[in-house]
Amino acid sequence: MKPTHLVVFVLLAVSLITILVKGGAGVGQHQKTPGQEMAALNEANLPKYSDSGFNLARLSKDKVAELAKDLPDEERRILLNEGTEKAFCGTLLDNKKDGVYTCRLCGLPLFGSDSKFKSGTGWPSFFQPIDKDHVHYEQDTSLGRVRTEIECVRCRSHLGHVFDDGPKPTGKRFCLNSASLVFHDQGAEMPPESTPVKSETAYFAGGCFWGVEDRFQQVPGVIEAVSGYQGGATDKPTYRQVCDGDTGHAETVRVAFDPSTVTYRELLERFFTFHDPTQLNRQGPDFGTQYRSAVFAADADQLKTVKAFIDESRKSERFKDRKIVTDVAMAGPFFEAEEYHQNYHAKNGGSCALPGK
Ligand SMILES: [Zn+2]
Repeated sequence: MKPTHLVVFVLLAVSLITILVKGGAGVGQHQKTPGQEMAALNEANLPKYSDSGFNLARLSKDKVAELAKDLPDEERRILLNEGTEKAFCGTLLDNKKDGVYTCRLCGLPLFGSDSKFKSGTGWPSFFQPIDKDHVHYEQDTSLGRVRTEIECVRCRSHLGHVFDDGPKPTGKRFCLNSASLVFHDQGAEMPPESTPVKSETAYFAGGCFWGVEDRFQQVPGVIEAVSGYQGGATDKPTYRQVCDGDTGHAETVRVAFDPSTVTYRELLERFFTFHDPTQLNRQGPDFGTQYRSAVFAADADQLKTVKAFIDESRKSERFKDRKIVTDVAMAGPFFEAEEYHQNYHAKNGGSCALPGK
């Protein structure tokens, strides 16, 4: 056996033992209940922002305490101590108006009138949340049975429970306490805490878009990072065309961000740590204008900020002996790359943690 074969053999043997040990550890233990599984899934895959554009960052204990300080005793019992209001006593049970039901404590939209139905149980009932990521699930074994408790994902105040005896299309019955909700009429002006984040967009090209996208996705305040092509003349280019180097496009990442959490200037600072802005028409092993360092400004303010940032950087210690060659231009059309390029590192491994993480 060649030494390399021996190494492979040992690695395989170790992997097999690891699998057996890990698998064996579960034998004899109780299986996870659906509630526990839902909770685990929730924690592991919790997005930072929901599809409907809300910041889902969990509120601190201090913030929750501040929001709850003036709650009447009955609402405090329900929201903070998993209480249940008496059947047929809630103020929203018979509410048939069109509108949105938000969290009583933090204002996150939770349910829409279009999923409310008459269940006959005595509590407001819905067949689905307004956004799947706005509700958090926990196993509840009180009352001597296993139920699935529902909470607001942002402040974790208690909402009620969900059962599997609801109507189509979901078959679910989200059973709510009126006290956990605030109703807003359709078209009414919503408070800031019940309004989606006002996101802004930025564009960065710094070599292969897989890595740039992966790093921006980890930056707090980044809502979404998408790989694509920008800065050239070809309409709707393919990856193959861009690779040939004749389109003028650079592999670019479009970043949607929450300016109340991260500023454009901070994104620029990050970008200059994610790539080397002194390499002309290349980035590491990748050569060609499609791998050039570039910033495409979405508006005049961004253009001013990026120019000032590069001027400052040129005077810094880091770049005193090396010329920054980053191309700066106003953003033209951005073409999203093929699906297999999106979230490449998340799907295929090779993700790099942010510097300093
Ligand atoms: Zn809440």
